[in-house]
Amino acid sequence: MAVNLKDPIYKDEKAARDHLEALRWPDGAYCPRCGGFEVKKLGGKAADLGQYNCRDCRKKFTVTVGTLFERSHIPLTTWLMAFQLMSSSKKGMSAHQLHRMLGVTYKTAWFMAHRIREAMAPAKGSQEPMGGKGKVVEADETYHGKTKEIRTQSVDGRVKYKAKGRGGANKRTIIALVERGGSARTFHVAHATFAKVEQIVSENVDRESRLHTDESRLYAKSKVPTMVAEHESVRHTADEYVRGDVYSNSAENYFSVFKRGMKGVYQHCSEKHLHRYLAEFDFRYSNRSKVGVEDTERANRALQGIAGKRLTYRRTSEAVL
Ligand SMILES: [Zn+2]
Repeated sequence: MAVNLKDPIYKDEKAARDHLEALRWPDGAYCPRCGGFEVKKLGGKAADLGQYNCRDCRKKFTVTVGTLFERSHIPLTTWLMAFQLMSSSKKGMSAHQLHRMLGVTYKTAWFMAHRIREAMAPAKGSQEPMGGKGKVVEADETYHGKTKEIRTQSVDGRVKYKAKGRGGANKRTIIALVERGGSARTFHVAHATFAKVEQIVSENVDRESRLHTDESRLYAKSKVPTMVAEHESVRHTADEYVRGDVYSNSAENYFSVFKRGMKGVYQHCSEKHLHRYLAEFDFRYSNRSKVGVEDTERANRALQGIAGKRLTYRRTSEAVL
């Protein structure tokens, strides 16, 4: 389903605000401060700003109070377009592309992109366990980028990053859990240890699930097999990739999209931001068209994530927008 860029929500500030209100308040507006439903839409100039008055706490509010958009000076139409672009590009969209397409500065585009990733990340503790009875969850790990690197800038201003030191200890490790035919969750870990995979599996996988992995010792030798209904693995070292319905191709497909995006679109990401990019790829994977979520719906789901995250976000980008 193609996105209709002529939709008034991308051009008309009031239409954009109405769209956001419908998404955030499906049962009608309520006060984000006290939760009261006794609210009144204000008229005149206040109406243009989308202001409401709360009869309980007597304070004014708009739909952006308590969201990632609070105090943003960027028009809502621009925000909605940015959400649409980042939600519908399979490999992501760089700050440079956003800057050109939205007509905002590069710096603004960069912060918008991070704010959108924040919206795409699940709220803490909001996720149900993956899998379930008869369902398969695949686990796999990969590496992306270096933990120690040197930044160099050539005379023409081009920035390059070079690994500082070599070997496995200098790699950033990512562990992925992918429910077959369902969602993905990835984790950037300092080291893939037994304790770490045990923690990730116990916190994220339903105990009734079947877990499929490759022959990595990480799973077979840890307590992971006791945390699920059954654990099966294929032996990649023996050229075995599929045995019956045992394989880890879904996790490998996830990594392949992630790596193509990180290489082709984002090019470089510092280690402290890696989890944000992972959240972005997790979100698009978990809401892909193969599981019935099309572009418009995917952007709307991302927009629903703008609430309840402002505080965690402000730590990283105080008052830039
Ligand atoms: Zn109130």
